[in-house]
Amino acid sequence: MTVPEVKESVEMAVQDAATGQTKLTTTTTDFQRIRSVRQIPLEELYTSGHRTCQGCESAMVMRDFVKASGPRTVVTGSTGCMYVANTSYMTTPWIVPWMHTQLGAGGSSAIGMAAGLRALMRKGKIAKEKINVISFCGDLGGGDMGLGGISSALQTDLDLLVILYDNESAANTDIQATGMTTYGAQTTFTPPGKEHRIMQRRWKKNVAGMLAVGHPTCRYVATACAAFPPLDFLNKVRRALSVGGPTFIHSFDPCPKGWDYHPRYSHELGELGIRSGIFPLWEMENGKVTYTFDARKNRVPVREYLEKQGRFAHLIDEDYDYIQGMVDKMWDEWAIPGVIPFLPAQTPVTVAQAGSAAAEDPAAGEGSADEEA
Ligand code: SF4
Ligand code: MG
Repeated sequence: MTVPEVKESVEMAVQDAATGQTKLTTTTTDFQRIRSVRQIPLEELYTSGHRTCQGCESAMVMRDFVKASGPRTVVTGSTGCMYVANTSYMTTPWIVPWMHTQLGAGGSSAIGMAAGLRALMRKGKIAKEKINVISFCGDLGGGDMGLGGISSALQTDLDLLVILYDNESAANTDIQATGMTTYGAQTTFTPPGKEHRIMQRRWKKNVAGMLAVGHPTCRYVATACAAFPPLDFLNKVRRALSVGGPTFIHSFDPCPKGWDYHPRYSHELGELGIRSGIFPLWEMENGKVTYTFDARKNRVPVREYLEKQGRFAHLIDEDYDYIQGMVDKMWDEWAIPGVIPFLPAQTPVTVAQAGSAAAEDPAAGEGSADEEA
């Protein structure tokens, strides 16, 4: 079997011919696109010996991203399942250098790691070469607590990739709801009862969307699922590292323990989540959004995905209808499903336009004054 080598066009440091000064630039790494399973690197850089649950898709995310990035990679990971289960006392499945960081520090530790490498290279303490800096964080650590740090990371000029692995709960502390838990799901924070059948009433936070539209200098943001479509996640990791600069990927990770299903169905649930459209797959590169699975047509009913999980066992017909309606609305009415919730027919109004409209219609101003009074 021929496994193509990863090509790297490395130029981390350049010497200015006129001044003799060394300048560091954001460089790109030309990773080859993986077109078939035969081209997936055989080398394992996240090995056996960890203690994640059987069927854990987040463990697949770890294994896949470091396979895609290769051995010249350093990893930082914030507290969560992928920290706790991967670091039993004095053991680790990581072959590449790995560092633990605080729960909300996924973004800031990536900044520190990338900036530290840059400084060491500038000072000649280590060889000048392309080293991939990848930070991972969970949905609580990255999507809720650490969002500010990730936002800061995406405003730097450093080469780093943040991967948010989303199992839709704080899984390592016994399945508490987060801002990214699906509407209606049972968690230890949101147990269904006689008075209130639905305790998780929030719609899933659109983290990748808000990072994509809010950070114009970030050149690559994507959503992904390690289970489906095949090779998609591996290639998105390579694409992010090739584009360079600060980049972000949000992965959708079925979790047998938290979602309450038999571990053998992890891949199937990942695929159903994508095919039902409840988790849109897309990538934004240099401001252009493309769908890597287009669920605008031929969506699988979301009930097929929900009914296979014990966390939704308390839902009744009207709940399934509500969730289906929300998914349909996103795909049928949003300007960019899963990214921008403006209706296509509406043109956003600028602050200046809103001000001039108020000036032309004094009654509008009087009305608001009355309300204040
Ligand atoms: Fe993986 Fe879920 Fe188990 Fe955590 S609780 S190790 S995310 S399957
Ligand atoms: Mg989680």
